[in-house]
Amino acid sequence: MRVTWSGGRLTFRLDAEDEITGRAADDHPVKLATNSCSIGGAPADAHPDLYAVAAWTIVAPWTRRRITFDRAVSAEVAAALYDGWGIEAGPVGAEPRRTGARLAISYSGGADSVAAAAIHPSAPFVHFRRVPHPRVPNRWPHYRSDVLAKLAERTGRELTTVTSDLEFTLAEPRPGYPEHHAVAAGALLLADRMNLGGLAFGYELGSRWLGGDRYLLRFTPDNPMWAPHGAWGRLFAAAGVHIVLPVGGVSEAVTMRLALNSELKEQVRWCLRGTEGPCRTCGKCLYKELIQAAVERRPLDTPVTADRPVARKWLQPPPYGGQEMIEYGLARVPGIERSLFAKALDHFEATEESTSWLDHCYPPAIEEIPEPWRAEAAAFLSSQVGLMTEAEVRRVETWGA
Ligand SMILES: [Zn+2]
Repeated sequence: MRVTWSGGRLTFRLDAEDEITGRAADDHPVKLATNSCSIGGAPADAHPDLYAVAAWTIVAPWTRRRITFDRAVSAEVAAALYDGWGIEAGPVGAEPRRTGARLAISYSGGADSVAAAAIHPSAPFVHFRRVPHPRVPNRWPHYRSDVLAKLAERTGRELTTVTSDLEFTLAEPRPGYPEHHAVAAGALLLADRMNLGGLAFGYELGSRWLGGDRYLLRFTPDNPMWAPHGAWGRLFAAAGVHIVLPVGGVSEAVTMRLALNSELKEQVRWCLRGTEGPCRTCGKCLYKELIQAAVERRPLDTPVTADRPVARKWLQPPPYGGQEMIEYGLARVPGIERSLFAKALDHFEATEESTSWLDHCYPPAIEEIPEPWRAEAAAFLSSQVGLMTEAEVRRVETWGA
């Protein structure tokens, strides 16, 4: 792979051994659509390691053996690419970037990201906004990135919105981030200007420790995407921008509660379809409604009926993505046995007691937060959430066993 940056425009050329259908770190197959993309507002003078890591978040799935950058990178970043992926990177010759002092939040407006924002109230936001690609037709006009960007502006927080068409480098399964970390490409390029030493993501307990969507039902202390000692964690650290997961130790029930109690509650939006509010009919809205109803201890309020395509998976047996939250909802939502989740009830013995570990914070997640920001997160999570007991910790560490 050969990559070239020209301002904020990235062009990449595949080497003979590279393939147009690759695999992302979550093992998902992704097919290349086009070999260029742009990041709006990127500075022309960022550290070469920042350009390199930003490019890697986009081209990693398609790169097999080596990557050649258009400017020399540090030996540290080259080593992280080799250790993490077995990729030879060069040319090497830059001094490493010094870790910055500030933490920014990669802000999506969803409940997890709002909860992360509540934990670090003075951290600025960097918001990724999808824009059309000049050479790829946009067949997804229902995706309202403009609405999310406006909501982000209304938070009153220091905000940088990064526009990018990088999601259109993906032909299949659909436009999206080639790697989950590509959402950070703009923040990485801005890291010198913003003096960033850390970037906080809204990945919660399920994504960090319970395997997320791909590693269903497995405790994942060595999660390659989000563990500080994983390939991505070490690469970001080598460029002086640590991955920080303020809500990595709490479930989506807790992030929902924190978000709905936060001063940003009017700006919370997890659905990318509605303009005036969430669409209430997509799969994500349905899943989040289950969690919200459980947190608010009220019956499910949804127009979705069991004959709708988005309801179909709840008529099938598990495993489900986010299964811990399904159990949590089944145990808590009044009247769930008369809802479209009734069939799923057959497969679980979930009770409030058996799911109460999902109301507390997994302490090793706090230990993972880099030192400059750990105390602030620890104080908030101890006082507003509470730490798991040893028995609850065992529930995390035996998940799926
Ligand atoms: Zn929706």
